[in-house]
Amino acid sequence: MIKTTGNGLDWPKVLKASQHFGADLYLVSASATPKVSPLAAPWMPGRYSLTDFSLTDEPAFLKHYGGGREVALLVGCMDQRFARPLYNWAVDTNPRLFILPVFVAAGICQSGDPNRLQAMRVIAQYCLEKLNVKKVIASGHNCGCGGVAHIMFKGQKVYEALKCAAGDKKENTYMQNAISVSVNEIFDRQQRRIVQKVLVAQSGEKINFVTFR
Ligand SMILES: [Zn+2]
Repeated sequence: MIKTTGNGLDWPKVLKASQHFGADLYLVSASATPKVSPLAAPWMPGRYSLTDFSLTDEPAFLKHYGGGREVALLVGCMDQRFARPLYNWAVDTNPRLFILPVFVAAGICQSGDPNRLQAMRVIAQYCLEKLNVKKVIASGHNCGCGGVAHIMFKGQKVYEALKCAAGDKKENTYMQNAISVSVNEIFDRQQRRIVQKVLVAQSGEKINFVTFR
């Protein structure tokens, strides 16, 4: 396992890692401007939210999230259905923590692509190193994650590849496993103590936030 903890993590590396996810917009035919600064909340439902670190700079970023502030790093999928509801849930359930949103295609579930995994690792480890991160909320979602479809199934919808219905238990189990695998690859044992794993699970009209170990 490649580790980037310790030294050598600087803002240019974070920018490069963020750029690596820049093409995620083309995974979806998103017509609106979906890039969003890590200093801002994701867009409202109906619009994708791709976090782009080049929309801020390091002094502004550290001023916003640093200074001893207790932060929760929230990693989620840019999906237009789930990004904002997930953010709102994170804010509501962590009233004492300042939420730092990082939204890219597939959320935390990057483990099928070594370069994407490494890019997410750089971003997460930079935040853990520079900020007072009390919690990491590591998430993925059901009902057809386009990012995971791209990474794992050559674009085929996850539930179709699994031969089940969208939001079926089989898809949920697959996504929970994908979250766990990536968490294990991005964070070391010590860091995993503060990781909360969450499946954003749509069922009919309702969105549930399923935390699991
Ligand atoms: Zn997704």
